[in-house]
Amino acid sequence: MDSLEIYLYGSPLLKRKTKRVGNLPEKFPEFLERMYATMYSDDGIGLSANQVGLDQHLFIADFALHDKNLSREIFINPEILEASGTDTLEEGCLSIPEIREKVTRAFKIKVRYENLQRETLEREYEGFPARVIQHEVDHLNGILFIERISPLKRSFIQSKLKRIAEKGTTQTEPITIQ
Ligand SMILES: [Zn+2]
Repeated sequence: MDSLEIYLYGSPLLKRKTKRVGNLPEKFPEFLERMYATMYSDDGIGLSANQVGLDQHLFIADFALHDKNLSREIFINPEILEASGTDTLEEGCLSIPEIREKVTRAFKIKVRYENLQRETLEREYEGFPARVIQHEVDHLNGILFIERISPLKRSFIQSKLKRIAEKGTTQTEPITIQ
Protein backbone atom coordinates (compact mmCIF):
# COMPACT_ATOMS: atom_id res chain seq x y z
CA MET A 1 0.00 0.00 0.00
CA ASP A 2 1.26 3.45 -0.92
CA SER A 3 2.47 5.57 1.94
CA LEU A 4 1.26 9.12 2.25
CA GLU A 5 3.64 12.05 2.33
CA ILE A 6 4.43 13.26 5.84
CA TYR A 7 4.20 17.02 6.24
CA LEU A 8 7.27 18.25 8.04
CA TYR A 9 7.99 20.95 10.58
CA GLY A 10 7.59 24.29 8.83
CA SER A 11 4.39 23.37 7.01
CA PRO A 12 1.59 25.84 7.82
CA LEU A 13 -0.84 22.91 8.14
CA LEU A 14 0.92 21.80 11.31
CA LYS A 15 0.51 25.26 12.81
CA ARG A 16 -3.25 25.59 12.72
CA LYS A 17 -6.23 23.93 14.28
CA THR A 18 -7.83 21.30 12.06
CA LYS A 19 -11.47 21.36 10.96
CA ARG A 20 -14.06 19.42 12.92
CA VAL A 21 -14.94 16.16 11.14
CA GLY A 22 -18.41 16.13 9.58
CA ASN A 23 -19.41 13.40 7.14
CA LEU A 24 -16.44 11.35 6.05
CA PRO A 25 -16.00 10.81 2.31
CA GLU A 26 -16.92 7.42 0.88
CA LYS A 27 -13.28 6.66 0.14
CA PHE A 28 -12.20 7.38 3.71
CA PRO A 29 -11.61 3.72 4.78
CA GLU A 30 -9.06 3.38 1.99
CA PHE A 31 -7.34 6.59 3.08
CA LEU A 32 -7.35 5.36 6.68
CA GLU A 33 -5.49 2.20 5.65
CA ARG A 34 -2.91 4.36 3.92
CA MET A 35 -2.57 6.41 7.11
CA TYR A 36 -1.86 3.22 9.08
CA ALA A 37 0.61 2.03 6.44
CA THR A 38 2.40 5.40 6.60
CA MET A 39 2.56 5.31 10.38
CA TYR A 40 3.94 1.77 10.46
CA SER A 41 6.49 2.33 7.72
CA ASP A 42 7.91 5.27 9.66
CA ASP A 43 7.81 3.41 13.01
CA GLY A 44 5.29 5.82 14.47
CA ILE A 45 2.76 5.02 17.19
CA GLY A 46 0.39 7.88 16.41
CA LEU A 47 -0.36 9.99 13.35
CA SER A 48 -2.65 12.99 13.03
CA ALA A 49 -4.58 13.79 9.84
CA ASN A 50 -2.79 17.12 9.33
CA GLN A 51 0.57 15.33 9.41
CA VAL A 52 -0.43 13.80 6.07
CA GLY A 53 -2.04 17.01 4.83
CA LEU A 54 -5.67 16.29 5.65
CA ASP A 55 -7.34 19.21 7.40
CA GLN A 56 -9.60 17.12 9.65
CA HIS A 57 -9.75 16.77 13.45
CA LEU A 58 -8.80 13.08 13.69
CA PHE A 59 -5.81 10.92 14.46
CA ILE A 60 -4.85 7.26 14.59
CA ALA A 61 -2.75 5.41 17.13
CA ASP A 62 -1.60 1.86 17.67
CA PHE A 63 -1.05 1.29 21.36
CA ALA A 64 -0.47 -2.43 20.71
CA LEU A 65 3.03 -1.48 19.60
CA HIS A 66 3.62 -0.65 23.26
CA ASP A 67 1.14 -2.86 25.11
CA LYS A 68 -0.21 -6.08 23.58
CA ASN A 69 -3.48 -5.77 25.53
CA LEU A 70 -4.35 -2.58 23.69
CA SER A 71 -5.20 -2.15 20.04
CA ARG A 72 -5.09 0.30 17.17
CA GLU A 73 -7.70 2.97 17.13
CA ILE A 74 -9.02 6.05 15.35
CA PHE A 75 -9.98 9.11 17.36
CA ILE A 76 -12.43 11.39 15.54
CA ASN A 77 -13.07 14.87 16.96
CA PRO A 78 -11.15 14.04 20.15
CA GLU A 79 -11.32 16.33 23.14
CA ILE A 80 -9.45 15.97 26.42
CA LEU A 81 -11.97 16.45 29.19
CA GLU A 82 -9.81 15.87 32.25
CA ALA A 83 -6.10 15.63 32.92
CA SER A 84 -4.22 14.84 36.12
CA GLY A 85 -0.78 13.97 37.42
CA THR A 86 2.45 14.60 35.56
CA ASP A 87 4.87 12.39 33.73
CA THR A 88 8.08 13.27 31.87
CA LEU A 89 9.31 11.15 28.99
CA GLU A 90 11.26 11.53 25.76
CA GLU A 91 9.13 12.08 22.65
CA GLY A 92 9.71 12.13 18.95
CA CYS A 93 7.49 13.07 16.01
CA LEU A 94 7.28 11.89 12.40
CA SER A 95 7.02 15.55 11.33
CA ILE A 96 10.23 16.46 13.20
CA PRO A 97 12.58 13.60 12.29
CA GLU A 98 15.62 12.77 14.39
CA ILE A 99 14.73 15.09 17.25
CA ARG A 100 13.84 13.62 20.64
CA GLU A 101 13.22 15.67 23.75
CA LYS A 102 11.76 15.11 27.18
CA VAL A 103 8.23 16.47 27.50
CA THR A 104 6.16 16.78 30.66
CA ARG A 105 2.50 15.87 30.19
CA ALA A 106 -0.46 14.74 32.29
CA PHE A 107 -0.18 11.13 33.45
CA LYS A 108 -3.89 10.41 33.28
CA ILE A 109 -6.53 11.81 30.95
CA LYS A 110 -10.17 11.42 30.10
CA VAL A 111 -10.90 11.81 26.41
CA ARG A 112 -14.14 12.10 24.46
CA TYR A 113 -14.02 11.05 20.81
CA GLU A 114 -15.95 9.29 18.08
CA ASN A 115 -14.92 5.94 16.64
CA LEU A 116 -15.19 4.98 12.97
CA GLN A 117 -18.86 4.02 13.48
CA ARG A 118 -19.29 7.60 14.77
CA GLU A 119 -20.30 6.50 18.25
CA THR A 120 -19.23 8.97 20.92
CA LEU A 121 -17.04 7.37 23.59
CA GLU A 122 -15.49 8.63 26.80
CA ARG A 123 -12.45 6.75 28.03
CA GLU A 124 -9.67 7.14 30.53
CA TYR A 125 -6.06 6.44 29.66
CA GLU A 126 -2.89 6.62 31.68
CA GLY A 127 0.82 6.41 31.07
CA PHE A 128 2.00 5.78 27.53
CA PRO A 129 -1.36 5.85 25.65
CA ALA A 130 -2.30 9.05 27.51
CA ARG A 131 0.97 10.60 26.29
CA VAL A 132 0.34 9.57 22.68
CA ILE A 133 -3.21 10.99 22.79
CA GLN A 134 -1.99 14.30 24.23
CA HIS A 135 0.73 14.54 21.56
CA GLU A 136 -1.79 13.87 18.76
CA VAL A 137 -4.52 16.18 20.13
CA ASP A 138 -1.83 18.87 20.29
CA HIS A 139 -1.15 18.28 16.57
CA LEU A 140 -4.85 18.77 15.79
CA ASN A 141 -4.70 22.07 17.66
CA GLY A 142 -1.60 23.20 15.77
CA ILE A 143 0.88 22.53 18.60
CA LEU A 144 4.13 20.58 18.19
CA PHE A 145 5.94 18.87 21.07
CA ILE A 146 8.95 21.15 20.69
CA GLU A 147 6.70 24.00 21.82
CA ARG A 148 6.40 22.18 25.14
CA ILE A 149 10.13 22.15 25.91
CA SER A 150 12.11 25.00 27.46
CA PRO A 151 13.16 27.90 25.21
CA LEU A 152 16.78 27.07 26.09
CA LYS A 153 16.45 23.48 24.87
CA ARG A 154 14.64 24.73 21.79
CA SER A 155 17.52 27.07 21.03
CA PHE A 156 19.87 24.06 21.00
CA ILE A 157 17.88 22.37 18.21
CA GLN A 158 17.18 25.52 16.18
CA SER A 159 19.59 24.70 13.34
CA LYS A 160 18.23 21.14 13.02
CA LEU A 161 14.68 22.54 12.87
CA LYS A 162 15.71 24.98 10.19
CA ARG A 163 17.09 22.13 8.07
CA ILE A 164 13.84 20.13 8.45
CA ALA A 165 11.76 23.19 7.49
CA GLU A 166 13.86 23.67 4.36
CA LYS A 167 13.22 20.05 3.34
CA GLY A 168 9.48 20.37 3.92
CA THR A 169 8.76 23.55 2.01
CA THR A 170 6.90 21.86 -0.86
CA GLN A 171 4.28 20.35 1.46
CA THR A 172 2.11 23.35 2.14
CA GLU A 173 -1.29 22.62 0.63
CA PRO A 174 -4.01 20.51 2.24
CA ILE A 175 -5.08 17.38 0.36
CA THR A 176 -8.56 16.08 -0.41
CA ILE A 177 -9.61 12.45 -0.39
CA GLN A 178 -10.75 11.23 -3.77
ZN1 LIG B 1 3.91 14.20 16.23
